[in-house]
Amino acid sequence: MIGLEAMANFTVIAKEGEARVGVLQTAHGRVETPVFMPVGTQGSVKALDPEDLRTAGAQIILGNTYHLNLRPTSELIKQLGGLHQFMGWDGPILTDSGGFQAFSLGDMIAHGIRKVPNSSNKSSLDNPTLKPTLAKISEEGVQFTSHIDGSKHLLTPERSIEIQLNLGSDIVLVLDELLSPMHNRDYARQSLERTHRWELRSLKYFQEHVADSINPNAQIFGIVQGVYDKKIRQAEAKWVAEQDFDGISIGGSMGTSEFYNGDDDVTAETISIDWAASKAIAKTVEWVVPFLPASWPRHVLGIGEIQNLFDCVQRGADMFDCVAATRRARNGSLYISPKQGGKVQNKYTLLISKAEYKMDAKPIDQLCSCYTCQHFTRAYLRHLYLAKELLYYRLASIHNVYFLSNLMSQMREAIQNQELQKLKKEWTD
Ligand SMILES: [Zn+2]
Repeated sequence: MIGLEAMANFTVIAKEGEARVGVLQTAHGRVETPVFMPVGTQGSVKALDPEDLRTAGAQIILGNTYHLNLRPTSELIKQLGGLHQFMGWDGPILTDSGGFQAFSLGDMIAHGIRKVPNSSNKSSLDNPTLKPTLAKISEEGVQFTSHIDGSKHLLTPERSIEIQLNLGSDIVLVLDELLSPMHNRDYARQSLERTHRWELRSLKYFQEHVADSINPNAQIFGIVQGVYDKKIRQAEAKWVAEQDFDGISIGGSMGTSEFYNGDDDVTAETISIDWAASKAIAKTVEWVVPFLPASWPRHVLGIGEIQNLFDCVQRGADMFDCVAATRRARNGSLYISPKQGGKVQNKYTLLISKAEYKMDAKPIDQLCSCYTCQHFTRAYLRHLYLAKELLYYRLASIHNVYFLSNLMSQMREAIQNQELQKLKKEWTD
């Protein structure tokens, strides 16, 4: 890694308590934080092209290593100039390690746990000819079965980084092992030690190969993985903070279990098994932030509920990604602000299929400045949705992505004016 001293990748420009506004420099431009990153699973943020993404205020998107490497393969994408060129997006891209899907498409299904209830993720369960199998963990890596054709793959830390460098990602994540609430404490300890070795192997491979990759100025983030346990999380944060990373991703714990009882006011009884349970993720951020370098951007993996965004930003998190914004849009669930009836209980959404919108000539949200709200009515969107017209998916996705991007922009402005608490009250009280 060249010029770490010469070029800091992240600058904090304002703070309110632990909350902060920052600027993250990447090889494909700057990102203002706190930021929401739409997820482009298969080399596209579903229904949106790069121009739509810009219009919707997206600054940086996330690409899925697991999916892109199974199809069309990272080697093919590299030969075609990398993911930026392949998909026509010239802004920053963060890629995950691929570990989450390698585990989740087998292990979580086998345990009956889904990250998002009623998830529409394609999994081996959707394909009756494929039996879900457990991902097999060894010191070497994760052996998993492709959800597409049942072929066997081995994802090692080195291979994960190689794939991400093939894609030309701006921010690469190390491979870590996911822990399930079914694992006991002894297993968790062994697993965390193995994750340390995987993180170091990922870092070594990155340092040896990034200069010759198609994006020599790529950055690498370490991961604070761990279970819902204060001591373990803080020990993990201390360990990661000592390594030569450019930033940090904070993983959710896969819910909680009887084995872990990390804090007095949040126990296994108060949180049902639910990936990255909302209270758990806010607590986790609160626990680890004091141990992380202030100069590192902090990414919280897979979080996108509005209340969680406020809770995590308030505690010092900078970057978020979640499929919920675009998935909800496709399912007819459109974001609305508090003045339009949005609240925690309805997840700040209206259901466009409802009969009450049949003759509604208002935009989705009268306070929203997105392209969709400037040009189309609820009645029209409802009609498109019920008719399953392709245009619906684009217009709805533009609105939902814009809505979260704009909310993050309001948070940045509020932090600069020391008004984040006030803004949070307006949204969550
Ligand atoms: Zn809108």
